[in-house]
Amino acid sequence: MSQATAPLVACPQCGKRHPYHSSNPARPFCSERCKLIDLGKWADEEYRVAVQDDPFQDELSGLSGKH
Ligand SMILES: [Zn+2]
Repeated sequence: MSQATAPLVACPQCGKRHPYHSSNPARPFCSERCKLIDLGKWADEEYRVAVQDDPFQDELSGLSGKH
């Protein structure tokens, strides 16, 4: 009666459906391995894209130069 059924969710990495349970430290991933793969992918590709040259830096130095 007190045993709640964990809802099934799809792992963001491999798409495998697994129970979303608080006993799984890698949730919402199905396993620690999928979690590491996804984090590694994020750090390796998407983070680099997000940290391109900051356009605000150029704009600020340009404004101060006009003075
Ligand atoms: Zn997975």
